[in-house]
Amino acid sequence: MKLPSAKTVIEPFRIKSVEPMPILEAPKRKQLIKDASYNLFLLPASAVTFDLLTDSGTSAMSARQWGAMMVGDESYAGSSSYLKFEKTVQDLTGLEHVIPTHQGRSAEALLMTAMIKPGETVIGNTHFDTTRANIENAGAKALDLPSPSIALGIDDDFKGNIDLTKLQEHLKNETNKVRAIIITITNNSVGGQPVSMENIRNANELAKSYNIPLFLDCARFAENAYFIKIRENGYSDRSIPSICKEMFSYCDGAIMSAKKDAFANIGGFLAINNLEIASQIRSLMVLTEGFPTYGGLAGRDMEALAVGLKEIQEEDYLSYRIRSVEYFGKGIEAAGLKVVTPIGGHAVYIDAGKTLPHIPSSQFPGQSLSVALYEHIGIRSVEVGSVMLGHRDPETGKEHPAPQELVRLAMPRRVYTQSHVDYMVEMIHYLAPHLAELRGFEFSYQARFLRHFTAKFKKLT
Ligand SMILES: *Cc1c(COP(=O)(O)O)cnc(C)c1O
Repeated sequence: MKLPSAKTVIEPFRIKSVEPMPILEAPKRKQLIKDASYNLFLLPASAVTFDLLTDSGTSAMSARQWGAMMVGDESYAGSSSYLKFEKTVQDLTGLEHVIPTHQGRSAEALLMTAMIKPGETVIGNTHFDTTRANIENAGAKALDLPSPSIALGIDDDFKGNIDLTKLQEHLKNETNKVRAIIITITNNSVGGQPVSMENIRNANELAKSYNIPLFLDCARFAENAYFIKIRENGYSDRSIPSICKEMFSYCDGAIMSAKKDAFANIGGFLAINNLEIASQIRSLMVLTEGFPTYGGLAGRDMEALAVGLKEIQEEDYLSYRIRSVEYFGKGIEAAGLKVVTPIGGHAVYIDAGKTLPHIPSSQFPGQSLSVALYEHIGIRSVEVGSVMLGHRDPETGKEHPAPQELVRLAMPRRVYTQSHVDYMVEMIHYLAPHLAELRGFEFSYQARFLRHFTAKFKKLT
């Protein structure tokens, strides 16, 4: 007799340390979200049962990571924790110079300041918003060339790819302007969609032929590697570490927010082969991050990162990770809500525009759905639609909508169990028949920049 394998169907960890989860009743939540002016960012975390606002810095660390933290070497210069971290990143990426930073955006800021001159262009599959801001802050243009399947709205195994045809055109027409190419794995801004090995390899060949450096923004490198293993021809028998090694072999440098695929609560790095840029960054970083062997991190943080960067490559974990996010997405879809497909690596995106067709984009259907998910179920999600990505014309006061009205449910790593997910899905089933009763919102206050963080709303009747 042979029973099915437990692999991929259960959480490949057991729980040694727990923290209580706030469980509130709906009337209390209704009052709290009203007090927070219907902005989920303004809720205290103690009012949230399922905090799916982000997968950044919210992972559960392992016993091995907590153990490693106890041996953190807090020496100012050349700590053994740095040397361990440096070697781990070198082994992972094959890149020579490893610079720790306190999170991803500081690696971006340092790289862009050291590398870019005003008027240049940095091309990406889709730049993450902080990457774009750092490129623009250096006076350069951040150009996105996402896969054509995004514009066509069709499913594709590697919807995160960079558009190679357009990349070639730009490289040919603007050879002297393009300073770098950054491929974000997985492509966060289009829904955590993976990039294929073939795409990275071909982008690298193009970059080489024009002598332009290729960088990986590798916040979710392990999730990307797992998608390559299960979806791309020729990779099913390859180990995750060997797939990671091959991905990084096609780049000249990498920037990482280690708050994602390193299971850490804080941290990041920049790794690069170019000594000149590395030296420039090392002298620059003293102004903001600290000495180059700690870069804004404690020795214990680098210990946790060194363990996390290896642990994240375990295949049992990755199959559970990708499968459990998909399971959540399929459950929401089965309840009748419209989700973005294929489901990405770190989050489920609900298409609120299609799910609430009676609410026009000017009344923010994503905001309406995310408030309802909180009021009725205790889920904190984030609107990724016209509140976050739209804007108001400062002269006419007219609202310009975003191309899509999405709500993102990001899954912290190793935090919520299947029973939590089953409960959320069951509650969404109860909510689904009442979606037509939801009403839109209007702003009662909005800041000029990044308005979603501080905005106040009024519920329309
Ligand atoms: C989170 C993220 C960043 C920024 O990193 P922080 O650690 O939040 O500063 C950059 N790129 C991608 C793809 C990310 O997901």
